[in-house]
Amino acid sequence: MFSTGQIQILRRVAFCAALLAAPAIGVAPRAASQAAPSAVAGIDVAGMDTSVAPGDDFFRYANGTWDRTTSIPPDRSSWGLDADLAETAAQRTRALLEDAETHAAAGSDARKAGEYYAAYMDESAIDALGLAPLKTELGRIAAIADRAQLAAAIGAGIRNDVDPLNATEMHTDRLFGVFIAQDFNEPSRNAAYLLQGGLGLPDREYYLADNPHMEALRDKYRAHIARVLQLANMPDAAATAERIFALETKIAKAHASREDSEDVHKANNPWPRADFGAKAPGLDWAAFFKAAGLDAQPQLIAWQPAAIEGESALVASEPLETWKAYLQFALIDHWSGLLPKAFVDERFDLFGKALSGTPQMAVRWKRGVAATNGAMGDAVGRLYVARYFPPEAKAKAQSMVADLKAAFSARIKKLDWMSPQTRAKAQAKLDTLIVGVGYPDKWRDYGGLTVSRGEALQNAMRAERYRYRQAVGTLRGPIDRAEWWMTPQTVNAVNLPIQNALNFPAAILQPPYFDPRAAAAHNYGAIGAVIGHEISHSFDDQGSQFDASGRLANWWTPEDFAHFKAAAAQLVAQYNAYRPLPDLAVNGQQTLSENIADVAGLSAAYDAYRLTLEGGAAPARQGFSGDQQFFVSFAQSWRDKFREPLLRQLMLTDGHAPSEYRADTVRNLDAWYTAFNVPSTATLYLAPADRVRVW
Ligand SMILES: [Zn+2]
Repeated sequence: MFSTGQIQILRRVAFCAALLAAPAIGVAPRAASQAAPSAVAGIDVAGMDTSVAPGDDFFRYANGTWDRTTSIPPDRSSWGLDADLAETAAQRTRALLEDAETHAAAGSDARKAGEYYAAYMDESAIDALGLAPLKTELGRIAAIADRAQLAAAIGAGIRNDVDPLNATEMHTDRLFGVFIAQDFNEPSRNAAYLLQGGLGLPDREYYLADNPHMEALRDKYRAHIARVLQLANMPDAAATAERIFALETKIAKAHASREDSEDVHKANNPWPRADFGAKAPGLDWAAFFKAAGLDAQPQLIAWQPAAIEGESALVASEPLETWKAYLQFALIDHWSGLLPKAFVDERFDLFGKALSGTPQMAVRWKRGVAATNGAMGDAVGRLYVARYFPPEAKAKAQSMVADLKAAFSARIKKLDWMSPQTRAKAQAKLDTLIVGVGYPDKWRDYGGLTVSRGEALQNAMRAERYRYRQAVGTLRGPIDRAEWWMTPQTVNAVNLPIQNALNFPAAILQPPYFDPRAAAAHNYGAIGAVIGHEISHSFDDQGSQFDASGRLANWWTPEDFAHFKAAAAQLVAQYNAYRPLPDLAVNGQQTLSENIADVAGLSAAYDAYRLTLEGGAAPARQGFSGDQQFFVSFAQSWRDKFREPLLRQLMLTDGHAPSEYRADTVRNLDAWYTAFNVPSTATLYLAPADRVRVW
């Protein structure tokens, strides 16, 4: 995960998309967050293109000049508001880590984080070690003599590196992924969820899709496997690479699609541990679970049962030598970011250049910050919050959250299509929603983690194992509904459906998203819509599957669903009609949950904004009425540019629509038509009956 040199992009999270998104407001955002901290956030008038009719293309009306004058930095596959803020957060984090390395108390978590970063930065030590840090692991794989040992090796490598419900991270390059969280059939305890995995490329489509783009990428991936084997001095690199690729293709054929993987009902397969051998024959499950530390679990939840069955069968049917070669390659490739430069460059050529279109690797310190965040996120977060998130900002953000909750509550009361008993349950869910603002109340500790200078790769392996063991430990302990799934220094936000909770990290609660001194129209259009988006996930097609306690239990009546489905179908059609590339349209079904959350979040944020006016008129600023500021501020928060390969990747694997179309969410709100006098001839015009109102 931190081996690519790319910062991992989380996106349900937050707006999820936010992360991908990028920089902001031309020059303004940087100025707001760095050079001129005293400037109060407002809309970026210079970045607009008012020659575009707002009703024809609202994204370009709000962002046209920015879009024309901004280019994606060479070390990025995308750029926009979030990327810009993330860059700022990374610079701050670097300084904090460099300071902690020498000034924090010896043995403290802060000191360890500083040393972790310093070890990552020590390229000469890394180059001198070569493949030595992987020698033990590679030797273990080479010594595998039978299928039981193979199963144990696969089990020993398993980590909690997927998260199908919070971050919606479905991909792992390990043969299986584990997600440990509250049990959605029994919310008083935690459960282990087992997911498909084992692909080097991002999704099954990369192996199976019959089109020239994917064919070209497959060729590059095969060549990549061969080069990695060559660099590692493995024999018969070319022939071995073909066998590894053929095995991965078989794994891909067994995989469930992204769409199926997002259906929690298809995922709800509690399998007694003892039944795995009968349900998914092939893999020696007893050896696997023992090595994975999961042999005390009476049951696990099989997220994609057919894929688990298919992968297990392959473990028995494919030659042992092929599996050994596959495991060795996967291990080296996974850790290549912490191997000598030739490995780093080779991996970047494929995953950075070919798969994401990024011309140039991020400088090492940026990769080091990302890696440290990934390994010891809470230790870094404590430093970040102490320096950059004052109590006043927390208090103000909490009051905005309260406003948004009140706006949702009022909307729920008025929903005439929803049965009274369902409305009561929605209200109960809202009342018990836990909203984390800025940072967690309880930090993860790293007391048992060993960090050594000069051992960058070993540190990373130990940190991964430490996190996994911590997670496995929670299977025996109580649930924690206030647990955070995102670090405070992340520019993003997330809804946690089984905890009935939200996280709004400190790093997104800053200008231009949020400025305690800015006009309400600005704050509510930007961060308010993000807060509304995340709250609404508790009530959308996914949220309606989980009750207030996090139990997988549909709390809607069939009539409620019928109405919801009709509204959803309209939204699916609305997004299916968007076409970012001539040969590729947005998938309205794949992005439905997020699109609903955008409509609902913007609607609630608008209500909350109007409530702040207490019936008075909104002050005009910068030449725009209050409502115009609100909508422009929203559209400017979706400033993003993508390189085409990344855009294609996201359209296949991401639950969010490309940012530009998220800005066009405005066309579902009556108030937007009034604010901009949108005529019925406008491109984005929807007749009142076609405007989607879910909440
Ligand atoms: Zn979302």
